[in-house]
Amino acid sequence: MNPSLSMSVALAVVLLANLLTKLWLSGRQVRHVAQHRQAVPATFAHTISLDAHQKAADYTLAKARVGLIDMALDAVLLMGWTLLGGLDALNQLTLNWLGAGMTQQLVLVVSFALIGGLIGLPLTLYQTFGIEQRFGFNNTTPALWVSDMLKGLLVGLVLGLPILALVLWLMDTGGATWWLYAWGALVAYQLLVMWIAPNVIMPLFNKFTPLEDNTLKERVTALMNRAGFTAKGFFVMDGSRRSAHSNAFFTGVGSAKRVVFFDTLLAQLNADEMEAVLAHELGHFKHRHILKMMLTSFAFSLGGLALLGWLSQQVWFYTGLGVSPNLNSSNSALALLLFMLTLPLVTFFVSPLSARRSRRFEFEADAYAVANSNAQALGSALLKLYQDNASTLTPDPWFVTFYYSHPPASQRLERIAA
Ligand SMILES: [Zn+2]
Repeated sequence: MNPSLSMSVALAVVLLANLLTKLWLSGRQVRHVAQHRQAVPATFAHTISLDAHQKAADYTLAKARVGLIDMALDAVLLMGWTLLGGLDALNQLTLNWLGAGMTQQLVLVVSFALIGGLIGLPLTLYQTFGIEQRFGFNNTTPALWVSDMLKGLLVGLVLGLPILALVLWLMDTGGATWWLYAWGALVAYQLLVMWIAPNVIMPLFNKFTPLEDNTLKERVTALMNRAGFTAKGFFVMDGSRRSAHSNAFFTGVGSAKRVVFFDTLLAQLNADEMEAVLAHELGHFKHRHILKMMLTSFAFSLGGLALLGWLSQQVWFYTGLGVSPNLNSSNSALALLLFMLTLPLVTFFVSPLSARRSRRFEFEADAYAVANSNAQALGSALLKLYQDNASTLTPDPWFVTFYYSHPPASQRLERIAA
């Protein structure tokens, strides 16, 4: 078999393996949740009402159904772009229009992203105004949704185009080791975005007001002093503008570090519970989870870029994925797009490893919170969070293995109690 045909066959086989695995996982999750819908699990019998339990089950099932449509759409799009010739056609079209050069490459990538976004739009709309609405979580108005989308597009272009142009330029002019320079540029860029996110990007979408509750602020400051941690400030975010889901998080690097509470969370938890949730977040910092995850992602992007450096030199990588490489001009944008299209098919099969690591981090953060604040408050806060977000108490174990970044409620509460 010639290498180009082997590439096409490999794509078909890996895509099929992806689809079958995802179908199997989704089927398991749906059956498992549906089977346990009638009764609240014994351990939660006194804390969770049957109503709340069934709402969580129905919400999980509704999301699983959309997940199936999403999966099918992704597969069709992938085939459309590659073997059915979509990317090749778009490349020819933009070449005829603009001629070869950096402008054409940028337009190719941007139009690729816009077309994908447009095709996915109905499903995104359905998620917000169909499912989230039906389960009482949606607070987004159509006007806010449109303004979010336009702002997101603008931020994406302003932040994305310069780094894209830089990477394409390095691919074209950096010689055999361009991927090493591109990696350095991407790492620096990622750190820059993390640094400006809390002050520049996030305020475009949400309002952040300093936390005014003085008792809570005192307790939180005391807790942070005990943990030897300093943050620039405590902020409340108007998350309720868009959704009733609640959360708390740390953001920013270096001097821009801050703690953000959703207003929805403040409305739900008492002071003890807030402190416990914050202690959990501090646990992530104490154990350097964010740094560890960042280093892993940097290592993976280095490997990925080295692989792309090699693949972009192979004619079969293009022809096997339905694209005729340009003979007299750069193929960098094509290589980049083909790589980004096909990489998730492979990384899906290692996602259980990263998910397991993330769940281990959650246990460590819980243990830290138990040691530094109040175990009972942490338990009741978690229950409220699971209930607020209608997370099912009875997920399928295999589904958890592949997809859950947080351990199921039962496991976390069991460990907290112990
Ligand atoms: Zn956590």
